[in-house]
Amino acid sequence: MAAVSDKPPDPPRPPSAPRRSAATFGELEQMRRLLDTAEMRVALVGPDRRYRYANRAYCDFVGLAPDAIVGMAAPEVLGERLYRELRSAVEAALAGNTSQVEQWVDYPRRGRRFVRRVHTPNVMPDGRLDGYAVFVHDITEHHRAEDELRASEALKAAVVNGALDGVVAIDGGHRIVEFNPAAERIFGRRRADVLGRDVADILIPPELVPAHQAGLRRYLETGEQRVIGRRFEVEAMRSDGWRIPVELTVSETSASGGRLFVASIRDISDRKRMERELMDLAYRDQETGLANRQGMLRTLGDTLAAGKPATLLCIDLDRFSKLRHSFGHEFAHAMLAGLAARLMGSFVGKARLARVTDDALGLLLEGAPDDATLAAHVESIAALLRRTRGIAGGPVHLTASIGAVTVGGADHTPEDLLRDAEIAAFHARELGGARWVRFEPGLRDRLVSQTRVEHDLREALEQNSGLWLAYQPIVDLSGGRLRGFEALLRWTHPELGNVPPVEFIPVAESTGLIVALGRWVLAEACRQLAAWTALDHGTDPAPFMSVNLSPVQLGEAGFIEEVARVLEETGADPKLLKLEITEGAVIAHGERSLEALDALKRMGVRLAIDDFGTGYSSLSYLTRLPVDSLKVDRSFLQDLQHSIQGDAILRAIIDVAHTCGFDVVAEGVETAAIAEHLRALSCDYAQGYYFARPLTPDAADAMVRNRSEAAV
Ligand code: C2E
Ligand code: CA
Ligand code: CA
Repeated sequence: MAAVSDKPPDPPRPPSAPRRSAATFGELEQMRRLLDTAEMRVALVGPDRRYRYANRAYCDFVGLAPDAIVGMAAPEVLGERLYRELRSAVEAALAGNTSQVEQWVDYPRRGRRFVRRVHTPNVMPDGRLDGYAVFVHDITEHHRAEDELRASEALKAAVVNGALDGVVAIDGGHRIVEFNPAAERIFGRRRADVLGRDVADILIPPELVPAHQAGLRRYLETGEQRVIGRRFEVEAMRSDGWRIPVELTVSETSASGGRLFVASIRDISDRKRMERELMDLAYRDQETGLANRQGMLRTLGDTLAAGKPATLLCIDLDRFSKLRHSFGHEFAHAMLAGLAARLMGSFVGKARLARVTDDALGLLLEGAPDDATLAAHVESIAALLRRTRGIAGGPVHLTASIGAVTVGGADHTPEDLLRDAEIAAFHARELGGARWVRFEPGLRDRLVSQTRVEHDLREALEQNSGLWLAYQPIVDLSGGRLRGFEALLRWTHPELGNVPPVEFIPVAESTGLIVALGRWVLAEACRQLAAWTALDHGTDPAPFMSVNLSPVQLGEAGFIEEVARVLEETGADPKLLKLEITEGAVIAHGERSLEALDALKRMGVRLAIDDFGTGYSSLSYLTRLPVDSLKVDRSFLQDLQHSIQGDAILRAIIDVAHTCGFDVVAEGVETAAIAEHLRALSCDYAQGYYFARPLTPDAADAMVRNRSEAAV
C-alpha cells in the first residue's frame, strides 16, 4: 500500500549538510546529539549515494553502527531490493524534488514495517544540490490502528446494511439517523425518505405514540430503564398504515452528535401467524371448527378477568353418542356444526360458543338472567334442537340436558365454572334429560358422593366383598305357589351399610362398571340356580331365576358369549334363566339388541320385558320381540286401585300378551286385594311384598327346600 502525495505536507526541515563556513564544529556536535535523541530516523546521503550521516535511530533501524554507516553506499545499507524500490524517490531527490511515500517496507533486520519516508534534496545556500536527506517515520502501529478502525467501520456497515433485522437509530429528538435495508423492507420506506424524520410520525402507530414519547422522555430525564437492553414485542406501522408485529431490542450509544438509540427490529408476522395457527390447533375443535374446551376456558378466564356478569350453559346433547353411532361420525359432527351455527345465529353478538366435550356445547351468555329469562333461552335452544334433521332429512328428536351457572360469583376459576355447568347438566340428564338445571353447590356434593360410590363399588367388586344377591320370590297367581326368583343386587358398604340399588346402579351404568357388575350377578345367580335345580322338587317344576340386565350390558360386544360361558361353567339350565330387560334398552340398541335377543333365544334362555308401562309401551312393537314374559310395572297397580280406565288398560295388556304367547308378571303386589284382582284378570305371576320381600340367600334357600311356606 503506497501513497505518493503530489503535494507533500511540509516535511520536517532537514539539517543542512555540514557547512564548515556556516556552523561551528561545536554547533554541529550539538545538533548531532540532538538528532541522536530524536525518535525520527534521519540520514544524509551525498550525490554519490553514499551515507554521510545517520542518527542513532536510523542506525538502530537499519542495524548498523553510526560510525560504520558513514561512507557506505545506499544499496549496501538498504539492501539491493529495498534500494530498487526506493530508487525513483532517491533519483527525484537528487534531481531536486521532494517526495513522500508511505508504504510497507521489508527491512533486512527490522522486518516488515509501515513507514513514511520523505526524501528531500539538500539544497545548498547557493542553490547547488548536494545529495539528499531522508526522514523515516515508522508508523506501523498507527497504521494498524487505522486499519482496524477502517475494518471495524466496514464491518459495522456490513452488519447494519446486511442485517436481516431492521436497524433504526434515532437521536434524542426522535429523529431517524439510521435506517438499514432490512428496515426499508420491513416498513416499506426508503432510507432517503425517512432520515431526519420523527419516528413517531412514520413508524409508530398513532395510538402508541404518547407511550413512546413518555417512555423516551422518562428515560432521558431519569435514566429509568424499561426498554433499553430488553427484548419486547410491539406493533409497528408500515408505510401503507398496516400494523405489523415486531420484536424490538433497543440499545443506546453515544455519537459525536449526542445520544443515539438504536433499535434492532424483527418482523415477527410469520411467527405470530404460526403462533395463531398453533393456538388454533390448541383452542379449536378440528371437527366442527368451534372453539374447544380450552378455548372456552380461555374465554371464561377473560370474562372473569373483565368482571362482567355472564352465564355459562353446558348443553349436553342427550343420546348424541348413539346418534353418532347410527349416523356415523362425520354426519354427527356436521349436525353439531349446523346446530352450532343456528345457535350463534339466534344469540348473535351476545354469546360465545364452544364444543366442551364430544357431546356437549358450552354457551357463554352475557349477563345474569333470572330463571324465567333463562328458561326462555333454553326453550329457544330446544326449538333449534328440534329443527335438527337426520341423514334423510327426517327428524332426529335431539334433546339436551342443560346445566347453567352464573359467572362471577365467588373466587371461581374457569375450570370450576365449566365443571359446575357440567355437573348441573349431568343432573339434568339424571332427571331424564330434555330439561335444564341451574347449578347449586349441593349438586357438587352429590357428584362427590357418586365418585365415592364408584370408587368403593369398584373395590367391592375387585375384592368380592359386600356384594350379594337377594332373591325375591315370584309366585303363581292361580295357586300361589313359588315359581321362581328375581335376583336383586345388594351392596353392604363397610361404612354406609346397605346402599340401595337405585343409588349405585345408575353410577355403575354411567361409569361402565355395570358390565363387570352384571357379569358377577349373572354368575352368582346362575350358580344359585344350578344349586336349586339340583334339588328334588317332587311334582313341581324347578324354580326359574330372573336376572336384571342393564341396557349397557345388552350393547356390550361379547355379551352373548359371556352368557353362554356362565351357563356352561355353572351348569345352569338355560330354560330356567330369565333375563329381564327394559323396553328402553331394546330400543336404544335397535337392530343390534334384536340380534342379541335372538341369539339368547337360540340358546334357550328366556326373556322378559321389565317395567312395562313406564317407557314407550308400544304393544305392537313388543309383539315383534322374541320375549316370553311381560313384567307390568308397579305403577300400573297403583293406578288400578283408583281408575276404571287403568283396569281396562291392564286387561287389554294381559289379553294382547297372552295372544302373543307371553305370560304376564305383576310387580309390586302389596295387598291381597290387588292379588285377587290380578287373578281375576288372569294375570299369570305376581311378585311383591304381599307374597315376600327380597330374601337373603339363606332365607330363599330355606324357602326352596320347603315349598309349602311359599303357598298363600
Ligand atoms: P326392578 O327390576 O324393578 O326390581 C324390583 C324392585 O321392586 C326391587 O327393588 C324390589 O325390591 C322392589 N319391590 C319388590 N316388591 C315390591 C313391593 O311389593 N313394593 C315395592 N314398593 N317395591 C317392591 P330393588 O331391589 O331396590 O331394586 C331396584 C332396581 O334396581 C331394580 O328394579 C332393578 O332395576 C335394579 N337392579 C337390582 N338388581 C339389579 C341387577 O343385578 N342388575 C341390574 N342391571 N339392575 C338391578
Ligand atoms: Ca327387574
Ligand atoms: Ca321391574
